[in-house]
Amino acid sequence: MPSVPEVLSPAVDLRSDTVTRPTPAMKRAMAEAELGDDVNEGDPTVRRLEARVADLLGKEAACYVPSGTMANLLAIRSQTQAGDEIIADADSHFHYYETGGYAAIAGCTARFVRSTRGVFEAGEVHRLCRAHSDHFAVTRLVVVENTHNRGGGIPWPVEQARDVARAAHSLGLRAHMDGARLWNAAIAMGVRERDYALAFDTISVCFSKGLGAPVGSALAGDRRTIEKARHFRKMVGGSMRQSGVIAAGALYAIEHHRERLHEDHAAARRFAEIIFESNGVRVDMDRVRTNMVYFDIDERLGPASEFSKAMDRRGVRMFDEGPQTIRAVCHLDVTPEQVEQAARLIVDATHLA
Ligand SMILES: *Cc1c(COP(=O)(O)O)cnc(C)c1O
Repeated sequence: MPSVPEVLSPAVDLRSDTVTRPTPAMKRAMAEAELGDDVNEGDPTVRRLEARVADLLGKEAACYVPSGTMANLLAIRSQTQAGDEIIADADSHFHYYETGGYAAIAGCTARFVRSTRGVFEAGEVHRLCRAHSDHFAVTRLVVVENTHNRGGGIPWPVEQARDVARAAHSLGLRAHMDGARLWNAAIAMGVRERDYALAFDTISVCFSKGLGAPVGSALAGDRRTIEKARHFRKMVGGSMRQSGVIAAGALYAIEHHRERLHEDHAAARRFAEIIFESNGVRVDMDRVRTNMVYFDIDERLGPASEFSKAMDRRGVRMFDEGPQTIRAVCHLDVTPEQVEQAARLIVDATHLA
């Protein structure tokens, strides 16, 4: 094995694919963007972005929003009423990481499927959908997350996602796909984004993760639902004025950073292969499907929270996600060489005598 440096400098930030900064070319596109007031007559660059996203996803309309959290909230708020119930995986981002907004602002509850790392069968929708009754909440919406973040960045098989959406529709429910990392899923599965999107009523996508734009997400769907979403966007303070400045970064990212995502997937796999060699690390290679690697460290190395701090001091930044679990994410701002070096440092730090 090549010799391992004590500390990586500059630090290699594998905490998330959200840490990327706009490239010089992206900044130029942002600086040159044509602008208007998007809360009045519309910003021309935002309109172009919304049209491009709607087209990519095969939908009638799309709405640009400041965050993926808001995209999910608007999807839920515009397709449910207070008291309604959502069928989803318990580790879904909208439930786990979004401050309970769907309960606080949309007034919904949730029922959770049995899943394999966030991916579930259409039968779960049939099992959990409530019969009409004086006792039950009204089941209204099914949410699928693709790639599934806490599952480990798992992309859905297209047919399985379609079957879930079809099951929802057969029961009179709506279907939303949280596609924050839809771009990664499409590349990993060798399909087009719209192959996933077509069966779903609404779909959200993030520009500020793997694509590397500084800000923003979009929600796409039929015209009527997106009109409602725009109304609620204004209600929660998400309508923005000359937002073409940031939308230009997203447009640039769609055109220039989508195809390269397979490089992040290859880097994540290489990272996993290297740390797999350490006897102090457990990594499930089947789970390494896109740009994320979740791995467990041996109890003898202490808790993951301490381990991640120690690695931080050595220039490898990662999040701890459980008592012994660490997450590393590959992205535009780290080179394959940096990722390999980080992995070797982890092997060095975890090898048990
Ligand atoms: C990051 C993420 C979101 C939310 O995006 P923000 O822009 O951070 O609000 C939603 N869903 C999934 C699956 C995510 O990974």
